[in-house]
Amino acid sequence: MNLTQTPVKKISICFFLAILVYSTSYAQKKGVIQLPDLPGYHTLKGDFHMHTVFSDGKVWPTTRVEEAWLEGLDAISITDHIEYRPYKADVPGSHNRSFEIAEPRAKDLGVILIKASEVTRSMPPGHLNALFLTDSDALEVETWQDALKTARDQGAFIFWDHPGWARQQPDTTLWWEEHTWLLENDMLHGIEVVNGPDYYYEGHQFAMEHGLTIMSNTDVHNPIGMDYDVKGGQIRPLTLIFAKEKTAEAIKEAFFAGRTAAFFQGKVAGKAEWLEPLFMECLEIKSVERRGTTFIIKVKNNSDIPLHLTKKAGKNPNLAFFRDLRLDPGHESIFSVDLEGDRDVSAISLNLVVDNFFTTPGTGMPITLEFK
Ligand SMILES: [Zn+2]
Ligand SMILES: [Zn+2]
Repeated sequence: MNLTQTPVKKISICFFLAILVYSTSYAQKKGVIQLPDLPGYHTLKGDFHMHTVFSDGKVWPTTRVEEAWLEGLDAISITDHIEYRPYKADVPGSHNRSFEIAEPRAKDLGVILIKASEVTRSMPPGHLNALFLTDSDALEVETWQDALKTARDQGAFIFWDHPGWARQQPDTTLWWEEHTWLLENDMLHGIEVVNGPDYYYEGHQFAMEHGLTIMSNTDVHNPIGMDYDVKGGQIRPLTLIFAKEKTAEAIKEAFFAGRTAAFFQGKVAGKAEWLEPLFMECLEIKSVERRGTTFIIKVKNNSDIPLHLTKKAGKNPNLAFFRDLRLDPGHESIFSVDLEGDRDVSAISLNLVVDNFFTTPGTGMPITLEFK
C-alpha cells in the first residue's frame, strides 16, 4: 500500500508547487509595444539611461529590469553616476554592482542588459554615458579626459546626455570645443536628442552636423510608474534600434552605424533613411476602390506610433482630398480623393508631410504615397 501511495503524494506536491511557482512568478505579463521591423532589420526598443540606489535613483537594480519587461522593452542600460553616490553609506559596493545584481534577472526575463555608467562632470563636457563597459570602476579617475579614454579603450559606445539641460546650459545649448576634441578622439559617438520630457532641437541639429547616433532615454530616477502612466498606456521615451539580430552585439553594431531613432510623446526623430521605411511599415493600405472620378482608400495604422498626415501645400494639383488625417495606433480610416481635370488616370500620388516624424529638428517628413 505504502509503495503506491508515496509516489502519488510526491506527484501531487510537485504539481501544487509548480502551480504555486508559476502563479507567483508570472502574475504579470510581458508588455508589448507594436512597432514594425524594417526590411533587413529588427526594430528593438531600448532605454539606455536610468538610475538605481547605486547612484541617486530610488529603486533596486532588478526593478529596472522588471519595469522594462512589463512595458515590453528589448534592451536597457543602468547608468549609475560614477561621481555621485548620495546613498553610498547605506548602499556601498563597486560601480559594477548594479549591473551584476540586475544581470541574472535580465537573463531570466529575456531583457538585454548592457553594462554602462554615467560620467558626471560639469560643463564642458557635461554628462556622458558609456555603454558596453567591461569595468565601471576603472572610470573613477580624476579627469574626465582619462575617464572617457578608459571607456573608449574598453570599446564603449559613448553619448552626450541631456545636452540642453538648463542647469548646465543656462542660456543656449552650446557645442563646446571639448566636444570637438572628444569627437576627434573617438570618445563621442551619440547624443541624447530626448531625455525624459525634453526634446532638444539643438541636440538633433548636433546629431545631424556631427554624424552622432540619435538617442532617446528616460534618465528615470523614480520607479517608472511615478513618472509615466505605464498602466494607462503611456510609453516612456525610447531609443529605437534597427538591429540585424536581437542581441547586445547587434545593438552595439547598430549604435556605431547610427541606425537608431528617437520615439517620444507620440513623435519620432531621426534620419529619413530609417523614418521613411518605418512609416511605410506602420501604414497598411487595406484597399483602394475606384468609383468614377473618386478613389476610396482604406488605411490602417499597425503600430503604436500615431501617424499625423497633412497635405503638402500647393503640391497636389488636380486632386481634392483631406487637409490632415490623424491615424491613432491600431486605427483604420477611409478617405476619398477626387480627381479634377484629367479624369483618365489609373494611379494617383499624394504629396504629404508626416508631421510627427522629424527628419530635421522639429520639422515633419515629406512623403509621397501612391495609389492605383
Ligand atoms: Zn546626467
Ligand atoms: Zn542620468
